[in-house]
Amino acid sequence: MRTLKLAAAAILGTTALTAPAFAQDIDLPIVDEPLELTIHMHWARAQGYGPGGDTSKIYPVEEVAREKTNIHLIDKTSGRNSTDQSEAMNLLLATGNLPDIVGGAKIKQPVNEFGPQGAFQPLNDLVDEHAPNIKAWFDEHPDIWKAIQAYDGNVYYIPYLPDGKYARAWFVRQDWLDALGLEQPDNVEELYDVLVAFRDNDPNGNGEKDEIPFFVRDWEEVLRLLNLWDARSTGADVYHQFYIKDGKVVHPYAQEAYRDGLANIADWYEEGLIDAEIFTRGSSARDYLLGENLGGMTHDWFASTSGYNIALADKVEGFNFIPFLPPKSVSGNRIEENRRIPMKPDGWAISFSNEHPVETIKYFDYWFSEEGALLANFGVEGKTWDMVDGEPIYKDSVLNSGQPVNSQMYLEGAQVYRGYPQDYRYEWQWTRDSARKGIELYDTHDLLVEQFLGVAFNEDEQTIFDKYYPSIETYMLERQQAWILGTGDVKEDWDDYMAALNKMGYEDVLEVMNSAYERQYGG
Ligand code: CA
Repeated sequence: MRTLKLAAAAILGTTALTAPAFAQDIDLPIVDEPLELTIHMHWARAQGYGPGGDTSKIYPVEEVAREKTNIHLIDKTSGRNSTDQSEAMNLLLATGNLPDIVGGAKIKQPVNEFGPQGAFQPLNDLVDEHAPNIKAWFDEHPDIWKAIQAYDGNVYYIPYLPDGKYARAWFVRQDWLDALGLEQPDNVEELYDVLVAFRDNDPNGNGEKDEIPFFVRDWEEVLRLLNLWDARSTGADVYHQFYIKDGKVVHPYAQEAYRDGLANIADWYEEGLIDAEIFTRGSSARDYLLGENLGGMTHDWFASTSGYNIALADKVEGFNFIPFLPPKSVSGNRIEENRRIPMKPDGWAISFSNEHPVETIKYFDYWFSEEGALLANFGVEGKTWDMVDGEPIYKDSVLNSGQPVNSQMYLEGAQVYRGYPQDYRYEWQWTRDSARKGIELYDTHDLLVEQFLGVAFNEDEQTIFDKYYPSIETYMLERQQAWILGTGDVKEDWDDYMAALNKMGYEDVLEVMNSAYERQYGG
């Protein structure tokens, strides 16, 4: 709906439809005299609180936040030599001397495990009493408040909250369809016929049978084909996750629909409809197969995949790779399984040793105020963007710099994994027309499915999960790959496979998953 609102706003020249609702702005500065708070901030783009992880420099966004709030964040990040957030977190916890704020990627699990043990401060009362903007946001999103709770019912971190709905989409070479006189496939049978035609009928016109009908960049994306047989490949925005089926947590790779879907994927692989190098081609698959005019269809990110129409305009004559609606499944169900998750395991928490929890939660709240959210999303007003007719609009120097806007923002200190509400207007401005059209097409249908937002285990549940699940997942993925490649037959092997999963503790894992799920979301 966001895209339609934006279109309307552009026509009406009004902000009333687009501006997120803010409870109230807080009193600034938060403290009369400058207050220094130390921070651990470890994430993919920076290992440390500074541009690109260079903590000798100060983000432009931080400079403005200091002026406004009088709170100065001082880097105290552990594990700066490692890009692995979990390793950095382990190093941090091992010091026993936590900085005032612990932030960055993948903090949910450790914070929810060690918060109840006293390492982090519960935020529920602090938010209630001192953070009207955070409170207003979660009052509108009660399920997300539940999803970030630890097993003791307390909240220990304020998450990074992505905005926007779609992530990946189905893409097809429309010019190949046109060359062969075919329509976009609307269901699984038509999809099969199109892939066969791509394989056999020389849509690239070079006289050779060299086309690769269906390819993917991340091999796991081949599993999206499971959706065509009413099976799931994952329950969340990352691969291989549990999902909710009839109110219970189950694993997609232990369902009969999965067995049948995987059997079909194996057939399509054997028939040469799926890239023979699906598991090995890797991240260059899209560049290579599109650039060489060999690939016909994929499932990949809206924004980046749409860029090829411009990048390859001069190289491949007539090149037109566009999003199309997910084909209907064998039962007539049309879903787009991949979507943005509404909350990430990233964000920030207040450690037990922080002597200024009220000031800190007020500071967290600043980033949920209108002014703070604009700063967190777009950078410094007047430097990277201007307010135009009530809308934050990037300067041409940002949009046309030749560098991705997100990469520029990371160096400004915007879009950093602090706890903040992302604003999709940030991304929409640099989304290409063909992707915008695709997003609007997807918006004409109700395609998205419920996501499993995860659970917080208590100690006993965590022990059981850690004991059994890692080897179960390894086994499931080993069998999955073998079946696709034609080693064994999933239908013949199924009973033995399920027996093996149960022997490995699958039922025990489901039991702790569901007890945690019931505690967190039930009632
Ligand atoms: Ca050919």
